[in-house]
Amino acid sequence: MPQVNGRYVPNVKAPRTPANEEDPIARAKDFRPVDKGFTKEMALAEANRCLDCKKPLCVQGCPVNINIPAFIEAIRAEEFGRGLDIIHEASMLPAICGRVCPQENQCEGRCIMGKRSEPVAIGQLERFLGDQPELASEPKMAPKNGKKVAVIGAGPSGIACAGELARNGFDVTIFEAFFTGGGVLAYGIPEFRLPKAVVKREIDGLEKLGVKFEYNSVVGRITDAEELFGEYGFDAMYIATGAGLPKMLNIPGENLPNVFFANEYLTRVNLMKANRFPEYDTPTKRAKNVVVFGGGNVAMDSVRTALRLGAETVTLCYRRTEAEMPARRAEVEHAKAEGVKIHELASPLEFVAGDDGSVAFVKVQNMELGEPDASGRRRPVPIEGSVDLLPCDLGISAIGTNANPIAKLIGPEKVNKWGYIEADETTGQTSDPRIWAGGDIVTGAATVILAMGAGKAAAADMTAKLS
Ligand code: FAD
Ligand code: SF4
Repeated sequence: MPQVNGRYVPNVKAPRTPANEEDPIARAKDFRPVDKGFTKEMALAEANRCLDCKKPLCVQGCPVNINIPAFIEAIRAEEFGRGLDIIHEASMLPAICGRVCPQENQCEGRCIMGKRSEPVAIGQLERFLGDQPELASEPKMAPKNGKKVAVIGAGPSGIACAGELARNGFDVTIFEAFFTGGGVLAYGIPEFRLPKAVVKREIDGLEKLGVKFEYNSVVGRITDAEELFGEYGFDAMYIATGAGLPKMLNIPGENLPNVFFANEYLTRVNLMKANRFPEYDTPTKRAKNVVVFGGGNVAMDSVRTALRLGAETVTLCYRRTEAEMPARRAEVEHAKAEGVKIHELASPLEFVAGDDGSVAFVKVQNMELGEPDASGRRRPVPIEGSVDLLPCDLGISAIGTNANPIAKLIGPEKVNKWGYIEADETTGQTSDPRIWAGGDIVTGAATVILAMGAGKAAAADMTAKLS
C-alpha cells in the first residue's frame, strides 16, 4: 500500500486498470467467459487508486449502499476475507453483481476519481472478492423462530430474501417454476457473461443455510397462496416472479418459423444447452443471417449468442442511435468488437417468408430523431419511403418484457392495470398483510441489484413484523 509517514497516499496518477479480457475474435467462437477478472496484482493496483473519500459518493450511487471505500481498503491491506464480509453486510451476491451491475450508472458513475481521470473499477474489485467465497466468515445465524415463509421465484430477488430470512431464523422454502434456480441469472444471461457455476454456488450457499427448494412448482397453477397459508402452514409469503412476458413487435410475419422472442432463444441456449445439441435434447436454429431488434442488455446477449452459434452476419437494429441504447456500454463495445453490426435508426416493418415458409428477410423502416418525448430522449420518426430489406433467416425480438401474468393467480395481493404487484416501495408489503413482493414483478424489468435490494428490504420488514 503506498504510504507517506504511515498514512495511505492514493496513486492518483495511475490509469484505470484495464479489464482482463479474452481476444474478441477468438472468444466469439465459443461460450467461454469474456472477462477473466482481476488478478491479485491488478486488484491491488486498482485499490491503490481509490481516494478513500470522506464523503464517498460511490456509496450513494450503489442501490444497496455497500461500504465501498471500506472493502477497497481491505483489499489494499490484502485482507480479502474481511473485504468480503464488508460487502456481505449489504449484498450477498458480489460475484454476480460485480459481473452484471451497470456500475457506470451507479457506484462508478459517482466515483470522485471519475472527475479527475477515470473512476475506480469498483465492479471488478467487488468481483475479485466475490470470487473467493471460501474466505468469508461463517454467517451468523439467529436461533430458529418457528415461522415459515414461502418465497415464490428463485431469481435474485427471491434468493436475496430467502438468504436473509434463513439467517434471521425463519424456515424458508423457495417455490420455483423451472427445474433450477437463478431466474434470469440462469436462463437469460449467457455463460460468457455470467458462468452458471457462479449462480450454482449462490444456490448451494442457500441450501447450506437450510433453505429448501421446490423446483418445477408453478405457484398459481399447482398451488396458491390460500393453500400455502392453510394446508402447508406458511406464515408469510414473498412473491418475486419477475417480468418474463415478452412484448410483441405487432408486425406481419412475427409468427413465421425462426422468429423468436429473445427470452425463448436465450433460454434454449442457457438453460437447455441447445448449443450442445444433440448431446442435449433441445435444438435451436443455427442461422446464417441473424437480425435482432432492441437496444438493451437482452438484445446484446441475443446478438452475441447468435455469433457464438456460428452466424455469418449478426445485425442489431435499434430505432434510436447507439448513444441512446439502454444496454451497458461495455456490452455494446464487446458486441461490436466481436463482429456484431449495428443498424441504428431502424424499426421492424415485416418479416418476409422464403420458399420454405420460414423467415428469409425482414423489412425495416429507416428513422430519424425528432423532438424529445416524455422520457427526454429524441423521438424516432420514420423517414417516408426509406425502407431496407435485410436477409434474415433468424429474427429475434428483444424490445422488452411485461409482468409475468401468473402473478395475478397467486393470491389476493393487488396488481395494477399492467399486471405488476402493488407493494410498499420501502418494505415490499402488499395489500395483504401476509404477503410481500419485490423485484421485476413490482418495478417492471430493472436490474439484478435492485431486485436483490427489494428482497433484502422485504426480509428485514418480515423479520421486524413476524419475529
Ligand atoms: P427473475 O430473475 O425473472 O426471477 C423470477 C423467477 O421466478 C424465475 O426463476 C421464474 O421461473 C420464477 N417464477 C415465475 N413465476 C413463477 C411462479 N408462478 N411460481 C414459481 N416460480 C415462478 N440486470 C442487470 O443488472 N445487469 C445485466 O447485465 C442484466 N442483463 C439481463 C439480460 C437478460 C437476457 C435479461 C432477461 C435480464 C437482464 N437483466 C440484467 C435484468 C435482471 O436480470 C432482472 O432485473 C432480475 O433478474 C430480476 O430479478 P427477479 O428476481 O425479480 O426476477
Ligand atoms: Fe474511492 Fe471513488 Fe468511492 Fe472515492 S468515490 S471512495 S475514489 S471508489
